[in-house]
Amino acid sequence: MIPDLIANARKIVFKFGSNTLADKEGKINHDFLTEFADQAAALIKSGKQIAVVSSGAQVAGLSTMGTWARKRDIHYRQALCAVGQVELMGAWRRAFEKYSLHIAQILLTQDDFGDPIRTLNMRNTIFTLVDEGIIPIINENDTVAVEEIKIGDNDNLAAQSAILWSADLLILFSDIDGLYNKNPKEFPDAELVGEVRDIDEVRKNISIGSANNFGTGGITTKLEAAQRAAFYGIPTILAHGGRPRCLEALVSGKQQGTAFLAN
Ligand code: ADP
Repeated sequence: MIPDLIANARKIVFKFGSNTLADKEGKINHDFLTEFADQAAALIKSGKQIAVVSSGAQVAGLSTMGTWARKRDIHYRQALCAVGQVELMGAWRRAFEKYSLHIAQILLTQDDFGDPIRTLNMRNTIFTLVDEGIIPIINENDTVAVEEIKIGDNDNLAAQSAILWSADLLILFSDIDGLYNKNPKEFPDAELVGEVRDIDEVRKNISIGSANNFGTGGITTKLEAAQRAAFYGIPTILAHGGRPRCLEALVSGKQQGTAFLAN
C-alpha cells in the first residue's frame, strides 16, 4: 500500500518532527538532513515535486544558545526559535546545495490560513517556488505564534500546507514506525496499525500515550493531521524518520508505516 501511495503521488509534503531532526545530544542531525536530501533529490529527478514542513527551530536554538536551556519565559523561548530558525534553514540549505537544489523559507501562522488573501498569496508562492525547482521549507512563525510553543502543531501545519498546495500525499516522519494500538515507548507489545480507513473509528480502538522529549503534539496531532488531509482527499503516511534511508525504504516497501487512506 505505502509504495503504491508514493508511486501514485506527484506532489508530496514531508513533515519532520523535532525528535527526528535532533541527534542524541539534542543538536540538529546534519547526517540525517544530508541523507534525506540525497533521497529527495532522486525523487525530484524522477519527476516528483516536494515541500517540507520542518520543526526543530527550538532544538537548533538550544544548541546555539545553550545557556538559555532553563529559561522558561515565553519571550526567551520565542527568541530561541528566532535564533534556531536561522540555524535550521542553514542546515537544510547545506543539505540540499550538494544536489544543486535551492530551498526557500516559509513561515506561517494559523491566522494566515484564515485570511483568504494571505492564503492565496501563500499558495501562489509555493506553486511558483516548486515550479522553479525550489524546495519550500515551511515552519510555524514561532516569533508571533505563542500557541505553537505551548501546544506545537506542525502536524496540522503540514496537513494545511498539503491542502493549500493541493498535494497528493502527506508523509509525517516521526520517531515511531507508525500508529500503534498503544504507546510503543511504554508498551513493548504494542501492535502497529498498518492501514487506517476511518480515523474516528481507530481513535476508539487505540490508547494515546504521551509525546517525547522534544515532541509536542504526540500522536493526537498526527491523527488530526491525517483526518484533515483525508477530508481533502489527501492520504497520509506516518513512518519512522530514523530508519536507514527511510524514504527509499518506504518507496521499496522495505520499511513499514501506517497508511491513512483518503476516502
Ligand atoms: P514528533 O516530534 O515526530 O512530532 P511526537 O513526540 O510529538 O513526535 O509524537 C510521537 C510520539 O507519540 C511517539 O514517539 C510515541 O511515544 C507517542 N505515542 C503515544 N501514543 C502512541 C500510539 N498509540 N501510537 C504511536 N505513538 C504514540
